Formats: sequence, C-alpha cells, structure tokens
Amino acid sequence: MCTLGHGSSGKVYKVRHKTSGKIYALKVIQEKHEPSVRKQIMREMDILQRARSPYVVRCYGSADKGGEISFILEYMDGGSLANVLKARKQVSEPYLAEVARQVLKGLHYLHINKIVHRDIKPSNLLINHKKEIKIADFGVSTILASTLAPCNSFVGTCAYMSPERFDPDSHGGNYSGYAADIWSLGLTLLECATGHFPFLSPGQQADWPTLMLAICYREPPSAPDHASPQFKDFINVCLQKDPKLRPRACALLSHPFITRGEGNQVDLSILLQSLSI
Ligand code: ATP
Ligand code: MG
Repeated sequence: MCTLGHGSSGKVYKVRHKTSGKIYALKVIQEKHEPSVRKQIMREMDILQRARSPYVVRCYGSADKGGEISFILEYMDGGSLANVLKARKQVSEPYLAEVARQVLKGLHYLHINKIVHRDIKPSNLLINHKKEIKIADFGVSTILASTLAPCNSFVGTCAYMSPERFDPDSHGGNYSGYAADIWSLGLTLLECATGHFPFLSPGQQADWPTLMLAICYREPPSAPDHASPQFKDFINVCLQKDPKLRPRACALLSHPFITRGEGNQVDLSILLQSLSI
C-alpha cells in the first residue's frame, strides 16, 4: 500500500485486492465526523456507487468503521490534472479541448441524472494512460467543506465556486446548480492555460475573504490575448456571472472550441510524460 495523495479531508492510498490482484485507490476520511455528517456522506456514496459512465471515476464500495469512512475507487494511474499542472506549468489548447470534451461528457451524464458535482477543480479530474480523464469526488468534499470553518483548506474547495453559490438568495434554483459546475470547469481550463489561478496573479497567495470578494465583485477572468478566438469564447461563455446565461454541458459539446479538433486524435497520456509516475 502506498500513498497517492492527500487532501483536506483525508488520504488516498494505492491498494491491491489480495485474491484478484486488481489495483484500486482507497480514500480514507481521517477525521471522525458527527453521525449526521457521516449519514449524509454515506447517502452521497450510494449515489456515487450507482453512477456508471466512462467519464466518471467508479466507486466500488464504501464503509463506515467506527466513524472512519473509506471508499474503494477506480485507480487512475496518471494522478490528477493538478499534478500535471504542477509539472508542466501550462497545458496547450488541443489538450485542453480534449480535457474539456471528456469532462463535459461526464458532467452531461451527471446532470441528466440530476447530480450536481459542486467541486470541479484540477485535483478532482483524474487521468490514466488510456488517454482518459474522469471526474472524481462528487458530493463528499462539499459536505465536509460545509462542516469546516473558513480556513485554508476551505479556500482550496471554494476557490472554484461560482459567484451565485456565495449568494444565499440564489439557493434552490435548480438551474444554477448545474451552471455552477460549468463555471468551475471554465476556471479550471483557464488555470491550465495560464499556469496560475485566474483570480490571482502568478505566485499570489490570498486569504478566504479576498478570494470571495474577487469572485463575487470582480469582472470574470478571460483567456489571454494570444489564445484562439474559440478558446476565448468558450471561457467567456462558461464564466458568465449570471448562471442562467451559462450553456448546459450538452450544448457546450457543440462549441467550436470542442468541435474544431474533432477527428484529430489527442492523446492525453502525453501530458503524463513529464511526471514521475
Ligand atoms: P481536496 O481535499 O481539497 O478536495 P484533493 O482533491 O487533492 O483536495 P483528495 O481527493 O483526497 O484531495 O485526493 C488527493 C490526491 O490523491 C489527488 O490529488 C490525486 O492525486 C490522488 N487520487 C485521488 N483519487 C485517486 C484515484 N481514484 N486514483 C488515483 N489517484 C487518486
Ligand atoms: Mg479530490
């Protein structure tokens, strides 16, 4: 068993099933949470275990052992897009279009099944050497984030949240839930294109209130001048402040940024070449 990574809520290990020899990822939420929170997490896990899409990381099972919750996940041998970004600094447009295409297919699957992810960000998009990128970690991190005080780990989870999610009056609008995932995808792609978090300048660290004020009151960020018109437009439509104006995942699959490269096979596993995996 070796450690694959750790986040604000726990650790992820690479494990081998003794009898089948198959490799899985085991995610363990270390802190023991209140029974009501655990119940909510197990309910989310139920939904996750029923999700079947080639664009969503499979969850094979979950357990609550005396308050310590763990899940068995499909192992993604390339790690996350966050690791890719750390190693490569920037990702070029043909790869970004392929990332966007696969993530939009995953979001379309989740959204037609009435599931809002709520935590799309580079560390929750996992890659493997089969040229696939899949969405991981829905539900659970948001439940845990809501139990945390606004502190540094909370910033990591909230940095990709759309402006309307900070607005208590906009709760419940079922339209905005899906649109929030589109905002987070736009922000993630822009971060990959520029190499830094879009609301901050390169190297800048920000505390939670500064970041929240920027998301809510600043003009949404846009793609750099040298980007293609298709990428600029894709980012602009995803990062519209009004959630009702953001297109649905299925509509974005026909956006020229996604369709212009169709037919050219883009091999995402090339992104993993600079990583020591
Ligand atoms: P946060 O807690 O803020 O959401 P995070 O997403 O990085 O951050 P985790 O979800 O605990 O935290 O994941 C930690 C790391 O473990 C990921 O960044 C990824 O590199 C690795 N990881 C997670 N799930 C898998 C998986 N199924 N297969 C391979 N690696 C994984
Ligand atoms: Mg995660």
